[in-house]
Amino acid sequence: MQPDSVDVDEPLAVDVPPAPHDASGERVPIRDLAGLAPPPRPARRWTPRRVVATPAALDHPHGRRIVGRVEALGIEVERLRANRLTGLRGETERETYARAKSTLAIVVSPPSRRRLQPIAPSADWRVDLAEGCPAHCQYCYLAGSLSGPPVTRVYADLDEILDGLAEYAGRGTVTSRDARRAEEGTTFEASCYTDPLALEHLTGSWRRAVEHFAGWDAPVQLRWTTKYDDVGTFVGLAHAGRTRVRFSVNCLPVSTRFEGGTSPVPARLAALRRLALDGYPVGLTIAPIIALPDWRTHYGELLDLVAAAVDGVPGLDLTAELITHRFTPGSREVLLGWYPRTRLEMDETRRSRKHGKFGAVKFVYPRETMTELRSWFTAELTARVPACRILYWT
Ligand code: SF4
Repeated sequence: MQPDSVDVDEPLAVDVPPAPHDASGERVPIRDLAGLAPPPRPARRWTPRRVVATPAALDHPHGRRIVGRVEALGIEVERLRANRLTGLRGETERETYARAKSTLAIVVSPPSRRRLQPIAPSADWRVDLAEGCPAHCQYCYLAGSLSGPPVTRVYADLDEILDGLAEYAGRGTVTSRDARRAEEGTTFEASCYTDPLALEHLTGSWRRAVEHFAGWDAPVQLRWTTKYDDVGTFVGLAHAGRTRVRFSVNCLPVSTRFEGGTSPVPARLAALRRLALDGYPVGLTIAPIIALPDWRTHYGELLDLVAAAVDGVPGLDLTAELITHRFTPGSREVLLGWYPRTRLEMDETRRSRKHGKFGAVKFVYPRETMTELRSWFTAELTARVPACRILYWT
């Protein structure tokens, strides 16, 4: 969702806390991040208001497993009579948004999702285990990409999805063609249209995927990114180093103002540390990078938090993916419908117009701003977190 926004020409109207705060508003001293195992409070978990399952989903063992997990949490599951989701529309767009965002649907993936597409610059292939997310980021990447109300759909045909990956091994055209990333093997990105750790407690899907890749004796890697911190069930899992979990992080003015319903950044970094100590390759997705006033100071504080979080981790394998803020005419319209009072800067006149794949228009920062941001992030990441490998900038 999108509430307040960042205006790049004016100071932020809301006081920005000088140090990280957890959900209760308590300050989290930087030095405490390095010692957080287990985390200081329970991980954030989404409880949907309504859960529905289609008849086709119940034909799949994993669909029935999800129903079992949800019911064990004391949440009722409505069995639908047909393979159609209904009752999601409200009187207004806001009401539709609220209804959809609090609904979980257990469904079978559409056939189009089973034909994997390359997903540059992140991975060779995009694999979807779900679509939709319960969080409310005001810049959400899903806006304009998905059609209909933003209900969260989780896929019951997980076993078939995972079995279908074998034919893509060794056929990558994105990371596999990049000599610097060749050691990653054929990569599969499992968070394009969702946030895995927001849903794992309800589905168990990503844990099964980690186990699937661990048992797959081939140069392959599963990867996903998250704004949550619910990693407890992944610690101690046999992962064989074939899953890279990245945490999407941002400076405090962005994360506290624009990332509703997510876990606080210090909690995400504590989760990153737990997985790194458990031998997982880990990563940072710093996105969206926003050129707000004093961005050097705010992002400098973020990088210091990262440095503290990975301090002393033996055999650390840490990457960074750096993604600047951008929007399309379509995503802007959807986001303004969802978050009409947002203060997120989406002013086309202050951006450069670029044409993406298939001629789609997107608005990015002007070249000078991009150059300043890129130079600063490259230099400061190298200086403050020397173990971190930058995979790409966009
Ligand atoms: S966590 Fe990702 S998918 Fe979910 S609302 Fe935020 S940007 Fe969108």
